Amino acid sequence: MKLLRQTPPDSSSDAPQPGQQLDLFAPVAEAAPSPTPAPAPAAVPVPPPAPAAPGWGQPFQPARDPLALSPSPGTPSSQLSAPGNRRIQLESHVIEYRLVRSKRRSIGFVIDEDGLRITAPRWVTIAELENAIREKQRWILSKLTERRERSARRLQAQMRWEDGGTLPFLGRDLTLRIRAAQGVGVAFDGEAMELTVSLPPDATEQQLKDRVQGWLQREAKRLFGERLPLYAEKLGVAYHSFALSSATTQWGSCTAQGKIRLNWRLIHFALPQIDYVIAHELAHLREMNHSPRFWATVQSIFPEFEAAKRVLRDSGPETLPIF
Ligand SMILES: [Zn+2]
Repeated sequence: MKLLRQTPPDSSSDAPQPGQQLDLFAPVAEAAPSPTPAPAPAAVPVPPPAPAAPGWGQPFQPARDPLALSPSPGTPSSQLSAPGNRRIQLESHVIEYRLVRSKRRSIGFVIDEDGLRITAPRWVTIAELENAIREKQRWILSKLTERRERSARRLQAQMRWEDGGTLPFLGRDLTLRIRAAQGVGVAFDGEAMELTVSLPPDATEQQLKDRVQGWLQREAKRLFGERLPLYAEKLGVAYHSFALSSATTQWGSCTAQGKIRLNWRLIHFALPQIDYVIAHELAHLREMNHSPRFWATVQSIFPEFEAAKRVLRDSGPETLPIF
């Protein structure tokens, strides 16, 4: 099995299978197309207020995330990215949304740069609200997907392979500096976050990309090679070998023989994401599955794994530079 990019395979495929490769990413589960084109809902009529709205005002319990550690470590609200945000599970997606209470008489759905915003009358309970969300889930999921793809394309278009262009490196913006020179060379200034690439004046853009990619891969090899032993020691396991991969949908994998592969493109992400994938793959040396025990093992050496996992889930390969 793979450590999947966005959603886990169903639990039936999660059963331990000795000797099988485990990976970090699953096929991308986008919103399934609606059998009939659903009209974009502007509002959902809601029933009049019940005399006593049971449940309203109670602490929000997010829908159970099948990817989440189970039993839950028990801090759902701290996992929300912003105060006032709520989460609901729609099919295999965990959707975060902002709830705005208003005087209007119906529930309104808006999807903008910040994601899903729901406006609802004060007397609508969370249970009623979640029912309304589920009624509109096709529309919500397809709009969210569209929006994410649009911003991914924008991001890609922004990558300029020229002097002053930037690309993500360890979660920060790395600025490219290009110098005309007889020989070729790459120099990194970590303080200025600049990568100076020396190239012959007639060099092509592909040559520039190759230089940068080569440098990123060397950095990945060095850094991952430093982090792996740290987490292996924490967990008390020994792995057989480590190599970089260039898989397009997989962040990492681990065989029963302890051969670990890590996607070099992880070097675009900040250290917590890298450490999470490392902890994940090493945890497979204890648990060759994605069971609750597996996630407890990940948590034992990388407690903040949920947040890191979410960042990776939301950052598909389409958001990364193309070489
Ligand atoms: Zn895995």
